[in-house]
Amino acid sequence: MKDFHIHSGLIEHTNDDIFSIAQKAKELGFTEITILEHISPFKIKYPANLDPSNTIFADKIPETYSRRTSTVSVLVEQCKKAEAEIGIKINRSLEVDYYKSFENDIKDYEKHGLDYLTLSSHYVEDPKADDENKLIHIGFSKNMNYFLEKYGEEKLFELYFKNLMNGVKSGLFELVAHLDFFGRALENYDHRKVIKYVEPILEQIIKREMFLELNISQEKLQPALEIIEKYKELGGNKLVFGSDSHSLSDLVGSIEKRQKFVELVDVK
Ligand SMILES: [Zn+2]
Ligand SMILES: [Zn+2]
Repeated sequence: MKDFHIHSGLIEHTNDDIFSIAQKAKELGFTEITILEHISPFKIKYPANLDPSNTIFADKIPETYSRRTSTVSVLVEQCKKAEAEIGIKINRSLEVDYYKSFENDIKDYEKHGLDYLTLSSHYVEDPKADDENKLIHIGFSKNMNYFLEKYGEEKLFELYFKNLMNGVKSGLFELVAHLDFFGRALENYDHRKVIKYVEPILEQIIKREMFLELNISQEKLQPALEIIEKYKELGGNKLVFGSDSHSLSDLVGSIEKRQKFVELVDVK
């Protein structure tokens, strides 16, 4: 059993440390896991809220940042130690908030001894906003509603997938997390409306031999089942599980969900 998406307590969104996670994963029968943390190369601001983001930092933690956080080198060191002591393969990664104009910063993350970078698109650009307020986190319904009222659903799909496509083509990433992430906050999300945007992205993912994550953290599968079917139809065979666990109990709870979907993926 493998899981390519587990968060740790190095930053404030979870409390369990890397050793406890590795220990629990081993007990549960996992042979390989990925520990990763959120990282944003840009300074996050968005209209509907103040900055509630949790992020790890590449080098230095800014003095103004008040949440519990850490650095990438600590993540790498702790994963190495846990791997040696507990005896389970631990990949070290970052869940990177991709945006094209920050590719150089993202490239810099590679020097920290990570195994690979995980492409994640949590933000959509606000076409009319100034640079400071350009990126909106669309995982929150408040922000989603703000965007939809201003630009409508089609614009959301267009901009979201444009960003994702750029990320896939950047060559910086090995794994694509929650391909249709916006579906978490979009009421009555109908995947049929996005197939035309998704198909060329799936083709690129397959061509570049990237992994595609089946994210099982929510009630809705991400990507939606029909998107996975399309991926397989196009010849994709690098689908992997990501529990997106934010606690030990999330990890335990993911086992049942994974059993439901195990026939869909090629890595068990
Ligand atoms: Zn995410
Ligand atoms: Zn995550």
